[in-house]
Amino acid sequence: MTERVDERLERAFDKRTATALGKLGLQTVGDLLGHYPRRYADPGALTDIAALEVGEHVTILARVEQATVRPMRNRTGALMEVVVTDGKSRLSLTFFGKHRGSLFNHEKRLVPGAKGLFTGTVGLYRGARQLSHPDFTLMGEESDLDSDEALLEHATKPIPIYPAAAGIPSWKIQGALRVVLDTLADGDVPDPVPDEIRERRGLPARAGALRSLHRPATLEEAYRAQHRMRFEEAFVLQAALAQRRARTAAEDATARPPLPAGTPGLLADFDASLPFVLTDGQREVGDEIAGELASPRPMHRLLQGEVGSGKTVVALRAMLQVVDAGGQAALLAPTEVLAAQHARTLRALLGPLAEGGTLFGAERTGASTRVALLTGSLGAKARKEALLQAASGEAGIVVGTHALLSEHVQFADLGLVVVDEQHRFGVEQRDALRAKGRVSPHLLVMTATPIPRTVAMTVFGDLETSSLTEVPAGRAGITTVAVPAGNTRWTDRTWARVREEVDAGRRAYVVCARIHPDEETKPAAKDFDDVPEFLDPSGPEAGGGADRPPLRAVLEVVEELRARPELAGVEVGALHGQLPPDEKEAVMARFASGEAPVLVATTVVEVGVDVPEATAMVIFDADRFGISQLHQLRGRVGRGTDPGLCLLVSDAEPGTPAFARLEAMTQTTDGFKLANLDLELRSEGDVLGAAQSGRTSSLRLLRVVKDAGLIEEARAAATDVVRASPDLTEFPELAKAIRAQLDEDQEEFLERA
Ligand code: ADP
Ligand code: MG
Repeated sequence: MTERVDERLERAFDKRTATALGKLGLQTVGDLLGHYPRRYADPGALTDIAALEVGEHVTILARVEQATVRPMRNRTGALMEVVVTDGKSRLSLTFFGKHRGSLFNHEKRLVPGAKGLFTGTVGLYRGARQLSHPDFTLMGEESDLDSDEALLEHATKPIPIYPAAAGIPSWKIQGALRVVLDTLADGDVPDPVPDEIRERRGLPARAGALRSLHRPATLEEAYRAQHRMRFEEAFVLQAALAQRRARTAAEDATARPPLPAGTPGLLADFDASLPFVLTDGQREVGDEIAGELASPRPMHRLLQGEVGSGKTVVALRAMLQVVDAGGQAALLAPTEVLAAQHARTLRALLGPLAEGGTLFGAERTGASTRVALLTGSLGAKARKEALLQAASGEAGIVVGTHALLSEHVQFADLGLVVVDEQHRFGVEQRDALRAKGRVSPHLLVMTATPIPRTVAMTVFGDLETSSLTEVPAGRAGITTVAVPAGNTRWTDRTWARVREEVDAGRRAYVVCARIHPDEETKPAAKDFDDVPEFLDPSGPEAGGGADRPPLRAVLEVVEELRARPELAGVEVGALHGQLPPDEKEAVMARFASGEAPVLVATTVVEVGVDVPEATAMVIFDADRFGISQLHQLRGRVGRGTDPGLCLLVSDAEPGTPAFARLEAMTQTTDGFKLANLDLELRSEGDVLGAAQSGRTSSLRLLRVVKDAGLIEEARAAATDVVRASPDLTEFPELAKAIRAQLDEDQEEFLERA
């Protein structure tokens, strides 16, 4: 017997309605019930027309002011123009007819004074906004979906406005829901939230909440229902995470204890060779990790930390412990550039320790290993060699991209998986790699920048968390200044400052958002192979501000700087993702050595680049980058003992979110503070889109930023439930909801792959 919520819409409705609803991705009655209103219109107040954006699909409540019909000038047919108003602004609606008679019905209905809902995509005609052939429904008229009670007749209650599409306007969705809700019994709606938990919080039962969401008597009622649904989303997600935690806690792993003190090994030799002392944080987190690696239960830990706090060293020490214990470690990076950088960094940090099997390694008396790099773009020969080194165990450390997940990749004994910048990987990918161990390998996930606690709880909720909050002592710090673009005095001063740094033997980065000046709109703000962009959503790509000056480009700025009097005699290099790999290396090498002490680059320098003499950074169009990206970029300077200077060049207007971001950057270098601020300034979709993969589908109402308290509560409740019934046999509805959510995530993952 199928439950009511699983009933197919083709069975519940006529074919046309079912097909139209299908366009919104709705297949079952349950899907329809889960299609929540985007907002509620107050029947007493008309929609603010001035706020409508061109290109947006809208549903508005408005009043007809005037209607005219005239023959078309250049072709046969008639044109009806209707002007609707909200009392302040006007919007024109146009309808075309084959002849006047075919508009007769519209003429009869759309008379001055008529009030109703109009829906369509906002277009622009001769500078004025309009809806062309909008769908509409008028108050006091009978709707075609339910003839017994016109939808808007007694419109004193909030009118739900649904995410709609062409062919299925909001009120048709409302009508379909009315049909379903009229015959919905409480027992038809299974509730994943156990009664006891729900009642303790005074939350309404699910069926009632759905009625309130879709047919509220008051706005308060709708909001109460939304709150309940948010709790449910948080609860189901946290229960899934709690189950994952419980499951991994019960898995077996190979213990990889550190060698006894005094025994020679890679880790001991590495520690002895370190040119610096570990920070207290590195030591503490290192001990925590070392203890977990020594246990026969798999470690599942998130390492987050301030930019430059030395996460790489912590991860490398964990890898060496595992290699000392006879295992291998894999380091998974999100892009080829990063993977190659990691391999270079690790080899540099390890020095002769990573030259096992080579002439240099032979000169060592102690143990040694190798770092293999495995990416998709390797030539056949290099690839074969890397595969062999991984499979034979000759490489204790294997660094790579997604290519590591391929079935051809085998390890002799994979003991530890380190994932860098996890937010670009899904849980599934982590699992795919972990499955390559004979038993579950230990897992260490590193984020590039600090993330707020609620995001950590939502996105990484199945991991324990360690944080590195301090940066190594002896760093002189960074001063950040916002600089208005296009101001000659500031510009002159900027390059004079850069010259001072260069004359003092230091280096400067100049960062641009794109490569070519004639590149149309698409900025290379993320100049990596496959990383999503982090640009300000209010920027030109989002439709606004077309009159802003174009983004500065690497190839243009490099020419400008070469011609500037302040930089006479200074070699200026250019670096971006479109250069061939060996040229990139050459450019970086000239910069690092000081031969070309000024480097104009895209965000390729964002991560991992480590030139201690770099003290200055000029970021053009700084308002177009996200906070975490700016923080990461800024982290490239002031890494040595000389103080850093970061100049954020922008034409952002005071009062805009972009300006607020830049201000925040000038006021603090604390990544945790900035991450929280970033969350507040960003829209939710952005947060989830940027911070994670594969979770957006299941979160409809939950707002990671605003609902922090709710998420904490849900997490505690979910943990209790999973403790009481680890496989959730006592909570079948919850188990079902989790399965449904995992299926959705899985689908999304497959689509992305
Ligand atoms: P991140 O956390 O941003 O990945 P890294 O691991 O890249 O930071 O470290 C930043 C720089 O600091 C590197 O050059 C690294 O060698 C250096 N470093 C790491 N730990 C220490 C320390 N305890 N003292 C001094 N320098 C350190
Ligand atoms: Mg790093």
